Amino acid sequence: MFALGALILAAHCNASPTNNIAARPATANSTTNQTMKFPVTKTDTEWRQELTPEQYRVLRQADTERPFTGLYWNTKEPGVYRCAACKQVLFTSKDKFDSGCGWPSFSDLASAKTVILRDDSSFGMHRTEVICAHCGSHLGHLFDDGPKPTGLRYCINSASLAFEKTNPPQPGPGEKK
Ligand code: FE
Repeated sequence: MFALGALILAAHCNASPTNNIAARPATANSTTNQTMKFPVTKTDTEWRQELTPEQYRVLRQADTERPFTGLYWNTKEPGVYRCAACKQVLFTSKDKFDSGCGWPSFSDLASAKTVILRDDSSFGMHRTEVICAHCGSHLGHLFDDGPKPTGLRYCINSASLAFEKTNPPQPGPGEKK
């Protein structure tokens, strides 16, 4: 019900796209992706049992949470963001930035090949969907209006993420605190 409003906001946030695609991973077309096999595969019943209803709607049915409502849109603590479905590390706090869109936004991936991109023409818009390369779950969308040097904005649902806080390094024996 709120998906359309959220998508309109997402499109609005993408009002000044650039053509900086140097850092953008290759995009799979939708036909390729539909037949893709993922390392983690579960039945629909298993996903429903393991995920919360909101996580299931977003991760497995490509829904979009309302902006400024998710757990992590304003999180600034150091840590890693895992896929909420398969627990693969997707993003780190060092690449998280405040895009003003109300969804967690990242300028880069934690490491290459953790996500797959595919064309998304739903809701009358042409966008790039971001899915987990490990389990095929929907994460969010990718836009070309992020900060330098990548110029990318991975606009990701909080419901698709599991944040894991990392502790600052502890001083060794004999070191000053
Ligand atoms: Fe995953």
